[in-house]
Amino acid sequence: MSCTCSKSNIEFYPNFQLQNFNTLKISSVANIAYFVKNERELCSVFEMHGNSHVLGWGSNTLFSSLGIKEPVILTKKMSDISFRREIVEVEAGASVQKLSVEAFNNGLSGFEFLIGIPASLGGAVAMNAGAHGQCISDNFISARVYDTVEKKILTLSKDELNFSYRNSLIKQNPNKYVVLSAKFELLKKDKDLIKRHMDENSEFRKRVQPSLVLPNLGSVFKNPVLPDGEKLSAGLLVDKCGLKGFHINNAGVWEKHGNFVINYHNCTSADYLNVLYKMYNSVKEKFNIELECEIVRAGQFSELEDKIWKILKKD
Ligand SMILES: Cc1cc2nc3c(=O)[nH]c(=O)nc-3n(C[C@H](O)[C@H](O)[C@H](O)COP(=O)(O)OP(=O)(O)OC[C@H]3O[C@@H](n4cnc5c(N)ncnc54)[C@H](O)[C@@H]3O)c2cc1C
Repeated sequence: MSCTCSKSNIEFYPNFQLQNFNTLKISSVANIAYFVKNERELCSVFEMHGNSHVLGWGSNTLFSSLGIKEPVILTKKMSDISFRREIVEVEAGASVQKLSVEAFNNGLSGFEFLIGIPASLGGAVAMNAGAHGQCISDNFISARVYDTVEKKILTLSKDELNFSYRNSLIKQNPNKYVVLSAKFELLKKDKDLIKRHMDENSEFRKRVQPSLVLPNLGSVFKNPVLPDGEKLSAGLLVDKCGLKGFHINNAGVWEKHGNFVINYHNCTSADYLNVLYKMYNSVKEKFNIELECEIVRAGQFSELEDKIWKILKKD
């Protein structure tokens, strides 16, 4: 049953189960969850509660099985996409797969890589999502961002967002900035070419990635870059340690690719983190390379989970 805040009519749910709102399907209960429909509602949740967790499509977030005390703000209902010639403005909760298809429908190139990524625009900007040699920062003009500390809306340019590999100003300051919408400039191109590119990307994904039928969070480790600039595949390193198929309880490394960890049946956040720790340690011992975790987390974790997390994350 949905409730609304009497003051502002914002849809909210106390004791909200997040299992269907993260692609790993972890069972985690939020003390309170808000479904905001526009930027005014989003800002007013921050004004009511202060620190809150913004959730897009939950495809890169590990929730704690122990739950999440701070309010969770889901952006899924802020999903407008509007085109004006080559310029597109997208609200934070819009599906990037839908964005990719709509760009194609408009004969615009630049979002072919987004096909198959189960993400929101806001999450993709925060993580600087990328694939197949393209990333979200490529065609970026600016974003409307809520500064939760100064309590004001800013327009930040591509330079100000300080994008790098799977990183951005937003990710570096998780409690400070919230993406409300972003503006991109795409390239007019032949639709057949765009379609071919999208089909190739989809085919590639089908070959090397698990579908969401096997709940997962995408690649768990960043591909390491050696001091001489050589880029290695994290999945291959894990594979060479013989860990494909390795399980702890119901979490395990996917049999077909060493950089995906699957929730095979109601795994806990502790099972999942223990598998990541085993992968990290094995690669460190065999190759003297310290893998760095790509995913983010939310909620209240056990002491042991916190210890593992500190080792896995470097930023
Ligand atoms: C099957 C699969 C395939 C994937 N393939 C790829 C891939 O090819 N390339 C790639 O880069 N990633 C990939 N991913 C990972 C993931 O989809 C991306 O990291 C994506 O950008 C996360 O978006 P989201 O909306 O799901 O973010 P969430 O998991 O909801 O959030 C991720 C982080 O972003 C923050 N955030 C979300 N919305 C906002 C906002 N509006 N403002 C500020 N912060 C916000 C959250 O607080 C959190 O810290 C894949 C994942 C899966 C499951």
